[in-house]
Amino acid sequence: MSKRPKAGIQSTIGSNPERNRSHNRRVVLDVVRQFGPVGRMEISRHAHLSTQAVSNIVEELVADGLLIRGERLRAGRGLPPIQFAVNPEGGMTAGVEIAADHISTLLVDIGGRVRAQRTLSIPRNDPEAVLPAIKTEITAAQAQLKSPAPQLLGVGVVMPGPFNVEGMTSVGPTTLSGWLDFDASAELGHMLGAPIALENDATAAAVGERLYGAAKAFKNFCLIYFGRGLGLGIMIDGRPYRGANGNAGEIGHVLVEKGGRLCSCGQHGCLEAYASLQALTERLAAAGIRRVDYAHLERLHHEKHPVVETWIQEAAGYLAPQIAMLENLFDPEAVVIGGALPPSLLDDLTRTMQPLPLSVASRRNRSEARLIGGKTGRLTAALGAAALPLLETMTPRLDTAHAAHREQPAEEVSLAG
Ligand SMILES: [Zn+2]
Repeated sequence: MSKRPKAGIQSTIGSNPERNRSHNRRVVLDVVRQFGPVGRMEISRHAHLSTQAVSNIVEELVADGLLIRGERLRAGRGLPPIQFAVNPEGGMTAGVEIAADHISTLLVDIGGRVRAQRTLSIPRNDPEAVLPAIKTEITAAQAQLKSPAPQLLGVGVVMPGPFNVEGMTSVGPTTLSGWLDFDASAELGHMLGAPIALENDATAAAVGERLYGAAKAFKNFCLIYFGRGLGLGIMIDGRPYRGANGNAGEIGHVLVEKGGRLCSCGQHGCLEAYASLQALTERLAAAGIRRVDYAHLERLHHEKHPVVETWIQEAAGYLAPQIAMLENLFDPEAVVIGGALPPSLLDDLTRTMQPLPLSVASRRNRSEARLIGGKTGRLTAALGAAALPLLETMTPRLDTAHAAHREQPAEEVSLAG
């Protein structure tokens, strides 16, 4: 947030009143965003803060232009409570997805409305090429707005994982080159002059589906995410689960075929070597069809191209048992599947996986399908990224040293609602 202390002057977690204040501001803002217009009493109930604390924070947020005071709501006798709502013009966050071959940028106002979006193809994905491009894209997105751009409250940046794993090839088509040991958060923050929240793409996509998409009603779900590779976002009790190093959910590198196809990580037989956009484009390239973009892929699928059809069969065959495994491990309300695949192709893949193997999710009385398609499409991860600066108080984990600068313990963060 705008009043967040600089990293260097932070002390240990939980002992800094300034940090608690900043955290509480976010909680209050999030409550108003979700339930607004609301009065102080109701905010205090949802935020688990005293009404006095809420009053102070609300006054600050109004003064900062992030909340607006509304009508007094008539409710019984006495002076009706003043209602507060978020001021959509009060601030924006940017969501940036750094993918292997493109950067997607979104501007989202604090009311949750997407105000501008851009996608840029990038020939190189190293930090030297990507950093200036992010700045240019955010500026260009701000210039698309009709009114003067509201203040930038933070930038959520997502990129494919895994982060800093020794022995895994870090330079490969599904990962980005040159980011190992690069302090992305500090460099981006310095360049953009705004707080940065860094996340892996699949986890951000799960946040995106939870807030805007197919998982609105779910507190416990898994998201199979098709980027260039294959990722998994895990939402437990309304909170993204990240693991000790932010690398939870690297389902793409689960071994599914001993001695199988070579994966970008250097191992043979990973799930991603079969069930990913990378695997599909490799098959197409082998058949002489190169440089396939989204629209081209959609067309090939529509034409029932044999390479695409064969890939669907193979990918479904490897993916279906993993869905059952996720259900057995996490007992989710549903598994969502989404990301950069054209919707028709994703539907076809989902259909081909049926019937799913038996798992703990096989219940006669369930109302939801076990496997459902994501709703937010190619922008899911960027949407989730844009929500991070407001909803999340975590900082990056590309470098474990950053853990000491976490603004709040992750347990206090919740997307529950
Ligand atoms: Zn692998």
